[in-house]
This record gives sequence, structure tokens and C-alpha cells, in this order.
Amino acid sequence: MSISDIERLIQLLARLPGLGPRSSRRAVLHLMKKRESLMLPLTEAMSRAAANIRACGRCGNLDSSDPCSLCRDTRRDASMICVVEDVGDLWALERSGAFKGQYHVLGGTLSAIDGRGPDQLRIGELLTRADAPETREIVLALSATVDGQTTAHYLSDRLAGKDVAVSRLAHGLPVGGELDYLDDGTLTAALKARRPL
Ligand SMILES: [Zn+2]
Repeated sequence: MSISDIERLIQLLARLPGLGPRSSRRAVLHLMKKRESLMLPLTEAMSRAAANIRACGRCGNLDSSDPCSLCRDTRRDASMICVVEDVGDLWALERSGAFKGQYHVLGGTLSAIDGRGPDQLRIGELLTRADAPETREIVLALSATVDGQTTAHYLSDRLAGKDVAVSRLAHGLPVGGELDYLDDGTLTAALKARRPL
């Protein structure tokens, strides 16, 4: 490997969230030392993931099958849909083990500053799923940020008049808090104490 190959790897890794150039260099050195046991398996796993992982056409989760393994799991409650901003939030809820229903990933929040309107989010798909006869409740598990709450209000307006209950996470959520950063206990409590919107 020439210097430029190493530099390229360092630069690419440094673009990952939580990694700067310094930790990226450390990671690359570590990978080179663990070439057989880590670097080659990682390379293989990365190319498999890049080739196979897709967004689920139903809920928006990332998986190598579509519908994803959560959507195909018949033991999950089909009557509840939990709406989250992104896949990281879905994973956080799954880690907590507190929710056994269906998910719907919006793909972000409404944001005036970022110019993100309803058409950029998977809102139409949610409204369609809300009309399905098995859907009884929609839980809005959005961040306690201004954009998250704006989005929650917008969604509850759009869902009003449909034959579904709409609830949101209880105020155990820290203000400005993003779901992904919450510990499992807080998330579980917020979900159990969800209230009608
Ligand atoms: Zn799915």
C-alpha cells in the first residue's frame, strides 16, 4: 500500500460521525496491524452491506431483505405503528425492547431552516398505512426538539379524522433530546407513559 492509499483510507474514515483525522489515523494503524483478523473481514462485510442492504419499502428500516425482518415478524403487534425520524431511532427503540409493534421511518423532520417539507419525508406512505384496517394506534416517537414537535403536530393534524388513535411519547424525554441518545430505561418509560395527542 502506498502512502496515498493510506491517506485516502484515513480521509474516508475521518468523515464518519465521531471520528476526526486523529482517531481515523489510529483506526487505520489498528486495521493494518489486524489485517487478517479485522481488516479483511471488515472489507468483506462492508462490500456485502453496500451490495445487499436496502431501505424496507414498508417501514423504511435498513435490512438485507425487503420487507425487512421486523415487518415480516408475525409475532409483532400489527395494530400499532411507531413513527420515528430515522433508522437510528428505530434501533434505539428495538434495543430497549419496549415496543413490539410496527415502525415507520420518516426520514427526518420538517425543517424550515433546512428547507425540508412534507414531500421530502415518508408522510404519504404513513397516511396510507394509517388507513389499513389493522392499524389502531400511531405512536409519534419524535425528538423533543422544535423540529420534532412541529413534525408531530403536523402529523397529528394529517391523521385527525382517520380511524386511529394518535399518541406521543411522554415527557420523560429531555427537552431538545434526540431519541438515539436516550438510555433504554428512559425510552421504555416514555413509551409506556405515552399519551393521546
Ligand atoms: Zn420494514
